[in-house]
Amino acid sequence: MAQVLGGLSDDLIKSLEQGFRGNLIRPGDEGYDDARKVWNGAIDKHPGMIARCTSTEDVVAAVNLARDNGLTFAVRGGSHSFPGNSTCDDGLVIDLSGMKKIDVDPATRTVIAEGGVTWGELDAATQAHGLAVTGGHVTHTGIGGLTTGSGIGHLMRKLGLTSDNLLEAEVVLADGRVVRAAADENEDLFWGIRGGGGNFGVVTGFEYQLHELAGPLLAGLVFYDAKQGREFLRFYRDWADTLPDDITTIVGYMCAPPFPFVPPEVVGQPGFAVVMVCQGPHDVAEKAIKAARDFGPPLFEMIAPMPYVAVQQLFDPALPPGTKAYLKSNDRTGYSDACIETILDNCARMKPGHCQILLFQLGGAVARLPEDATAFAQRSAKYMDAYIAIWEDEAEKDEAIAWSRRFWEEMKPHARGTFNPNFDGDNEPAAVVAQAYGPTKYARLQAIKAKYDPGNLFRLNQNITPR
Ligand SMILES: Cc1cc2nc3c(=O)[nH]c(=O)nc-3n(C[C@H](O)[C@H](O)[C@H](O)COP(=O)(O)OP(=O)(O)OC[C@H]3O[C@@H](n4cnc5c(N)ncnc54)[C@H](O)[C@@H]3O)c2cc1C
Repeated sequence: MAQVLGGLSDDLIKSLEQGFRGNLIRPGDEGYDDARKVWNGAIDKHPGMIARCTSTEDVVAAVNLARDNGLTFAVRGGSHSFPGNSTCDDGLVIDLSGMKKIDVDPATRTVIAEGGVTWGELDAATQAHGLAVTGGHVTHTGIGGLTTGSGIGHLMRKLGLTSDNLLEAEVVLADGRVVRAAADENEDLFWGIRGGGGNFGVVTGFEYQLHELAGPLLAGLVFYDAKQGREFLRFYRDWADTLPDDITTIVGYMCAPPFPFVPPEVVGQPGFAVVMVCQGPHDVAEKAIKAARDFGPPLFEMIAPMPYVAVQQLFDPALPPGTKAYLKSNDRTGYSDACIETILDNCARMKPGHCQILLFQLGGAVARLPEDATAFAQRSAKYMDAYIAIWEDEAEKDEAIAWSRRFWEEMKPHARGTFNPNFDGDNEPAAVVAQAYGPTKYARLQAIKAKYDPGNLFRLNQNITPR
């Protein structure tokens, strides 16, 4: 009789081994505990096997095995899913982290990258040619989940979302077929993978349009005392409206980190930071920064010319792998006085040293594409919030999560929408996902799901139920 290891029988494992060129990692194997770790330290799952793929053929073999044997399985790109959608207990993890090829073509300003590439890797390769595409704010996040979930980043107001720059993709479907998705082929699938998450298949290759981004960017942050919060947020809402698309800002509420540029007496003090990344002419940026400085003396600031790859690393120390985290997200069209009061109340309830509040500025190129250009559902929002609960001790977990959820609930009256597939700590029920996309988009997503994955094989995600 077949021996069962972590839910997968020896016979099944043998059938995958034939022709599989990557690594098959099983419980008890050397490296298993490292291989099963995901970014979110609160997720501790034990897959029956991790199939670390090295090619599209490996992915096809793994998908076929999972489908034919009814296995629970997860698709893993960079492993940064907040709710832990890239791992599972007992079943199979289709791990793309062995698929790292990156091919930049400076002549056409395009890059083709395999599904296991992270943003740090992609940025380094494209910046070698003075080129870039909008990427995530943290270098170790995967291009896979981020792009299929839409992708917001420091360059988005000028260059659009990551997924707005996707030219084509290679996708392994539920039936094992490998197809190209682009504006001229399988265009419904191409529409769906730009904001609909990993619902339709495994994207093994992404081709992006790159843009010239040579020379240093003026970037950094200005940090204000929490006591100035009300005046600062009122100033910010007017100032943000005046900014050119070259400048993207994020408001953060956090404790001053122990970095060299932070005066020692301020370290640990809560306050509001405005993070700015300016990719245009430095004199335009200087003018905008001067206005922020003129608002009132900050506790400290750090604005300097820096290479794009350094800009991309700014948030890395705040969110290292292994962070125990949960988050909820709303999007908004503005900062009314009442909205500012709700933000202030909830910031005041944040446990010092824990949690982070990030209020991203959208608009610019993101808002210029028509609403139905892709599956992304937040083009008409001007801001997107992330209420990130972080804890170390298990004993603090419930309180941290309750803080994030209360923030989210209390902000709902000021929100335009209450969900982004990349920024949700839960796997929401179908009704919530449907409401987030709106009836027209959700119906279109359901039809695409029904065509490409009628049996809902790909379901460890913010799931769209096939129509
Ligand atoms: C520290 C941190 C920083 C972040 N910063 C940003 C940010 O700046 N901008 C932003 O938009 N989001 C950001 N996010 C959210 C992030 O985009 C999502 O969590 C995203 O899903 C992560 O992608 P991944 O490949 O690393 O994750 P994974 O956990 O590997 O995958 C997440 C989901 O995507 C699916 N998936 C992954 N790869 C593929 C693929 N190749 N084909 C099909 N499906 C796939 C998985 O099955 C899973 O459902 C951040 C998250 C973290 C933890």
